[in-house]
Amino acid sequence: MAAMIRLFRSSSSSSYSRYFSTAAVSETVKSQSYPRNPVTTNVEPKGKTVQWVFLGCPGVGKGTYASRLSTLLGVPHIATGDLVRDELKSSGSLSKQLAEIVNQGKLVSDEIILNLLSKRLENGEAKGEAGFILDGFPRTVRQAEILTEVTDIDLVVNLKLPESVLVEKCLGRRICSECGKNFNVASIDVAGENGAPRITMAPLNPPTQCISKLITRADDTEDIVKERLRIYWDKSQPVEDFYRSQGKLLEFDLPGGIPESWPKLLEVLNLDEQEHKLSAAA
Ligand code: AMP
Repeated sequence: MAAMIRLFRSSSSSSYSRYFSTAAVSETVKSQSYPRNPVTTNVEPKGKTVQWVFLGCPGVGKGTYASRLSTLLGVPHIATGDLVRDELKSSGSLSKQLAEIVNQGKLVSDEIILNLLSKRLENGEAKGEAGFILDGFPRTVRQAEILTEVTDIDLVVNLKLPESVLVEKCLGRRICSECGKNFNVASIDVAGENGAPRITMAPLNPPTQCISKLITRADDTEDIVKERLRIYWDKSQPVEDFYRSQGKLLEFDLPGGIPESWPKLLEVLNLDEQEHKLSAAA
């Protein structure tokens, strides 16, 4: 992890000079085949960690599923969007500059993102963290190339939903300003695309204690969500191809909300929730 942090730091300050080859941060771990995707899911045997990336359009639910898996697997969930929002909340000099970019739905510069990510990894390392599930990074092919140069990624999960659902989900998203948890007030029921089944998602309602503290993200307005989706197709969709060509991309069409999608996701990742809970408790 230390090597990875150093390399991120050097890449954010040296205009991406060719730093060096891969830091063998992760060990290659047990691979199991997944029936529907030509990808192996490198799930950790006891004592090993995963280095996974979650890709997907804004609103698809990367944060929700990455966070659940991070709890299950005991690895940190690192969302660059959260790092950016934490920086926005601070009174640092970067905050004003970031607010303008983020509130327009644009991407922050690679240099800023790599700096925030290095800091987060450094803090994690000090706490003894190992492995990660990255969410929101990489978002450009350049970022993916840098990540490839600094560490080995085991698996890239690409979450997918029809665009009409993505917009509704972003507009319905609410965050508790106190506990930070995400909820969704949208009740989704849309016809599937290209003969796919209907997609329904019940609202993910907050508990009573959060109701009066709910806030909406400044970049979750209809115009900004559409701009973020446009940027996704332009800059981030090529990242899918980048990992697809490496045979690391696991495509996952979400069949609905959490109750339908979570068990299916565990199934395609060859993960047994009960087994992991028991081994974590042991
Ligand atoms: P998210 O929560 O992932 O939707 O991210 C919120 C915002 O943070 C994005 O719209 C970008 O402005 C910024 N951001 C997050 N991750 C990245 C990244 N990897 N590269 C550039 N900007 C990012």
